[in-house]
Amino acid sequence: MSHDRGLVLVAGAGGFIGGHVVADLVRRGRQVRAVDIKRFDQWYQRFPQAENLQLDLRVKEACEVAARGASEIYNFAADMGGMGFIENNKALCMLSVLINTHLLVAARQNGVARYFYASSACVYAADKQLTTHLEEGLREEDAYPAMPEDGYGWEKLFSERMCRHFRDDFGLQTRVARYHNVYGPHGTWGGGREKAPAAVCRKVIRAKLSGNYEIEIWGDGEQTRSFTYIEDCLTGTQLLMGSGIVDPLNIGSDQMVSINRLVDMVERIAGVKLERRYDLNAPKGVRGRNSNNTLIKELLSWAPSIPLEVGLEKTYAWIYDEIMAGRNSHLT
Ligand code: NAD
Repeated sequence: MSHDRGLVLVAGAGGFIGGHVVADLVRRGRQVRAVDIKRFDQWYQRFPQAENLQLDLRVKEACEVAARGASEIYNFAADMGGMGFIENNKALCMLSVLINTHLLVAARQNGVARYFYASSACVYAADKQLTTHLEEGLREEDAYPAMPEDGYGWEKLFSERMCRHFRDDFGLQTRVARYHNVYGPHGTWGGGREKAPAAVCRKVIRAKLSGNYEIEIWGDGEQTRSFTYIEDCLTGTQLLMGSGIVDPLNIGSDQMVSINRLVDMVERIAGVKLERRYDLNAPKGVRGRNSNNTLIKELLSWAPSIPLEVGLEKTYAWIYDEIMAGRNSHLT
């Protein structure tokens, strides 16, 4: 990468994506400061090569400590989870605005060379996601006129614009990715914040182990999504961070599947067939969502390509091992 080689701050380093980014930076010999609000024993990954700090980044002074001397900042810190969490915790989701705001201010004060913000497909307008047939996917311009996911999506959209205006008005180099459903090992798989791929893997594993061959599915299972494997997320993030692309960019798979199809795939990996019970009152989110990758291909000559079947197999194996080892650190 052509940009600076100084200290990198990774905010939200105890979480899923942040942990993988720290791993990647450490592997490449970068000097890393890893920060999260969680106790160290709850971080999904932690590396002795990094400077590890437990701080609440909603607090301005904590952001000043975290950003001191940093030349790059990655902000993955947010109070978030899957549909079950974001539909029931809108105020908590919106409070993450404090993290990005104070981090941007601290970045500016420290003359940070480059700042990355992890946004989400939840910024896209609800009226563009009313059908399961989203083969074309959501283009970057579909975020406006704004009607994002209530709570979580509004926070993301606002924070994207904060990045834009810190760039326009103060010259801070910001990069913004709109991630689409990232999954993989070392992520949340229980406790209420997990997302569909991990939840389905856990449910199928538990059904298989218990001999109770049933699975509960939220909604009618026909809602569609695309799921991005963590390795594609990491590649896209590094390419975007090293690029001159200043506007928000989709980093997401365009392999759209229904939740029923996702369950089929996990059943095949597990070698079981389960009876499906549909909970039509559970949180379901939008009817259809998929990434349109025209812009990323044009600008980076790259797009996520790891097939869902391949990523799910690795994720399933990791969650299976976690369950067999009796670990429940994600069930806090
Ligand atoms: P995660 O929950 O695993 O990680 C977020 C981390 O932020 C957690 O470890 C949490 O403890 C930490 N955090 C929360 N509040 C904090 C605070 N006040 N101070 C310091 N740390 C705090 O989530 P993730 O999946 O790794 O997501 C990372 C980022 O990417 C988030 O901003 C998320 O909104 C965004 N994103 C993720 C996905 C996805 O599918 N995983 C999709 C779209 C966007």
